[in-house]
Amino acid sequence: MWPDLNPAYLAWLGGLSGLMVGSFLNVVVHRLPRMMQAQWARECAELTGQRSAPLTPGKSGLPELTQEPAALSLSLPRSACPHCSHTIAWHENIPVLSYLRLRGKCSACGKAYGLRYPLVELFTAVLFYACVLRWGASYSALAWCGFSAALLTLALIDWDSTLLPDEITLPLLWAGLIAAALQINPGVSLVHAFWGAVGGYMSLWLVYQAFKLITGKEGMGYGDFKLFAALGAWLGWTALLPMILLASVAGAVVGLVLKYRARLRDGAYLPFGPFLAASALLMMVLGPVDVLLYLGLAL
Ligand SMILES: [Zn+2]
Repeated sequence: MWPDLNPAYLAWLGGLSGLMVGSFLNVVVHRLPRMMQAQWARECAELTGQRSAPLTPGKSGLPELTQEPAALSLSLPRSACPHCSHTIAWHENIPVLSYLRLRGKCSACGKAYGLRYPLVELFTAVLFYACVLRWGASYSALAWCGFSAALLTLALIDWDSTLLPDEITLPLLWAGLIAAALQINPGVSLVHAFWGAVGGYMSLWLVYQAFKLITGKEGMGYGDFKLFAALGAWLGWTALLPMILLASVAGAVVGLVLKYRARLRDGAYLPFGPFLAASALLMMVLGPVDVLLYLGLAL
């Protein structure tokens, strides 16, 4: 696209656009699960013939909707303070900078916004920087930036609500297959991507069925199968085994730490999606072969 630009300069441009995309991801992470709950509530109401179903905090543990569900979308209403509903002006909505200038507080009511918003923006910037540094000004870099943004969003939504929306996992799966078919994903052929998707879905589905047969419990959700299928489509079938090993070890460690610190109730469910996403992003940054080498699995 701009072949003459200095690669380091380009990577910083990538990082800068990551800041802005990260700001949008915060909105998606906050609103998409609530939009899904509102949709389910409307469907339930239609099925039972009621005019409006009560929006109780369900299995997902999200707080009750405070807004009229029909009014909520990714673009409307405008971003507002969660404490006092003060509409956030454009100059209060500049990634990271506004957070620093306002010291993380609402300009109207003075209550804190939480550190997660600027951290998500910064982390998106780091991922975009890494993609552009690795793939330069190319369609590959653009594709992997999209992959990073989708994975970060899925990881946060799964962590908050144990949901992995089909609205993100399924397009991510198709995008992985299309990127391979268009040959803009270096090192992953369409055959690799296809068997990655099939193997990703089937392997977790089999684990799920076996776990259910033995314990009578459901260890994960169908969203996890779809996510792993998408990751297989992007990283190829050879990345599936190291990815699941890495995610399982990380999940077990975090689970133990949370249990030790009594942050995880007995029988509580630690979502697997964030760990799958983290190991996939690590493979994206380092390259699958390097991760295999570190794990001592490369031939
Ligand atoms: Zn406020």
